[in-house]
Amino acid sequence: MTPEERAAAEAVIDLDAEENACPACGGRIPGEARMCPECGLVLG
Ligand SMILES: [Zn+2]
Repeated sequence: MTPEERAAAEAVIDLDAEENACPACGGRIPGEARMCPECGLVLG
């Protein structure tokens, strides 16, 4: 994985971040949330 690919992947979802970006809709998901408040996507 190149540094560029790694950065792109981390931009999509970073479980260590306080907020995650939903991989489905791009909405912000609070770090403690287990589903996207925007579209309802359930995270791992
Ligand atoms: Zn979403």
